[in-house]
Amino acid sequence: MRLRIVHDQLINGRKSMVNKELNCDVLVCGGGPGGVSAAFSLGKNGIDTILVDKKDYNQIGNKVCGDALSPILSDQAFEMIGLPRPSEENGELLEVIDDVYLYGKSPNARIKIGDGSATVDRLLYGQALIKVTDEFDCVNILANHKVREVIVDNDTVKGVTCDNPDGKITINAKIVIDATGSRGIIRSKLPETMYGKFPKKLPKEQTLVSYREILKLEKPHKYQNGLYLLYEPEIADVMPGYYWVFSKGPHIVNIGLGYLLTKENHGKNIRKINSTIRDRHFPECEILESQGDQIPARMPFHSLVHNGFMMVGDAAALVNPVNGEGHGPAIFSGIKAAEHAIIALNKNDYSEEALWGFNKWIWPEYGILNSMGHILIKFIQKYGYDAFDWLLANNVVTEADIMVQLREPEEGYDIGYKRVFKLLTRPRLLIGLLKLNSINSKIQDLSVKYPDIENFDEWNNKMTKLLARNV
Ligand SMILES: Cc1cc2nc3c(=O)[nH]c(=O)nc-3n(C[C@H](O)[C@H](O)[C@H](O)COP(=O)(O)OP(=O)(O)OC[C@H]3O[C@@H](n4cnc5c(N)ncnc54)[C@H](O)[C@@H]3O)c2cc1C
Repeated sequence: MRLRIVHDQLINGRKSMVNKELNCDVLVCGGGPGGVSAAFSLGKNGIDTILVDKKDYNQIGNKVCGDALSPILSDQAFEMIGLPRPSEENGELLEVIDDVYLYGKSPNARIKIGDGSATVDRLLYGQALIKVTDEFDCVNILANHKVREVIVDNDTVKGVTCDNPDGKITINAKIVIDATGSRGIIRSKLPETMYGKFPKKLPKEQTLVSYREILKLEKPHKYQNGLYLLYEPEIADVMPGYYWVFSKGPHIVNIGLGYLLTKENHGKNIRKINSTIRDRHFPECEILESQGDQIPARMPFHSLVHNGFMMVGDAAALVNPVNGEGHGPAIFSGIKAAEHAIIALNKNDYSEEALWGFNKWIWPEYGILNSMGHILIKFIQKYGYDAFDWLLANNVVTEADIMVQLREPEEGYDIGYKRVFKLLTRPRLLIGLLKLNSINSKIQDLSVKYPDIENFDEWNNKMTKLLARNV
């Protein structure tokens, strides 16, 4: 049974505690979309939950982001557990996006790569979610609590210690969920013996360094109701990477860039690259916000659980490496982590084995979705962006192909004889594309066959070898 917070005081309308130790069934670390959707799902099921976040309560949800969130995904989360959708009335939903475009280098390589999305105000939407989660009696939201140490006993995560305005607090839990974003704070503080199925840190070459600005424009801009991924000359120097302009209403755009932190890209000045491109497209603008962050760009970790421990969202590297879409995966992984935590609680067993079902949901979902992104990064690294641009301009890779990869990737990519014919003048590229296709479908096949825990080593060896293969 949980020790309820007995010394609650109301300070500025917020709960504050003088307890130095708390217990709960599930401790969620991080109140971004991954953490809040987990806590909301747990709250709906009456599970004794604590959510800690290092931010002030009224800043939870604020996040450097392109701000795109497909309404298809928010509708699905609503249908699954009743997670509120971003509301237009409250300013959470900013613009409904009709189309998503990729503007390649050559004029023929300008294609549509998505059939709609939306831009949201991350802070307002994040606040709406944290407030609705706070309404559950069984959920305590503790803002201004920064995780410092992870408590581990007998190869099992047992809780954390946090710094808070009153000093230090210990929180014990049967299950701890790491939802602290791309740095995976809990994961990174585990004892060395726990690494093997997942790494301590995200390797640099699997990290996108990114930077974004929100601009206010005097005149209505031409990108309205659209998300644009633009090939800009400066991006050629930092490949694989991309530049975006996302509309947030007639006078506001979210612009930015991300590129892989390869050896060649170390030391490049991301702010300078951004300002060169910004000055070209938006010479007269007011910069409302500017900030950088990092994005995981890899396949999900091969396991997202250990004894008493789960990871969700960016902490589990679930962002799609093709388009940087991570908000939706964070929400769904949070919902599913809660589902599997509840199964474990009902069995009174919080072991790695008891939580393994979460891996068996993640891999057939995000292994398949993110596979093309993984392999496309390798393709662009080997053949250069010009080759990719040529494929787009010559209809070897079409709008329909990209849509399939983003929404129904299990359908695969059928090269077909017509495309082979077009590629006869570029035999090296043809071989690369055939390899890309073959490796992609093998990764997808193996993702669906995610094993029981006893057979993990064999699966892990096969997957590791496949992911290391070059196109
Ligand atoms: C520049 C940029 C552009 C992006 N554009 C898009 C986009 O357009 N669409 C899209 O879908 N995705 C986009 N993403 C990705 C998206 O923002 C993330 O995938 C998503 O926010 C991940 O959610 P999360 O809950 O896992 O982590 P986060 O949103 O990062 O939340 C983590 C939470 O943990 C808290 N925390 C961290 N450390 C501690 C600690 N020590 N103690 C307590 N709390 C802690 C933080 O305060 C934060 O509230 C973008 C990312 C970047 C960087």
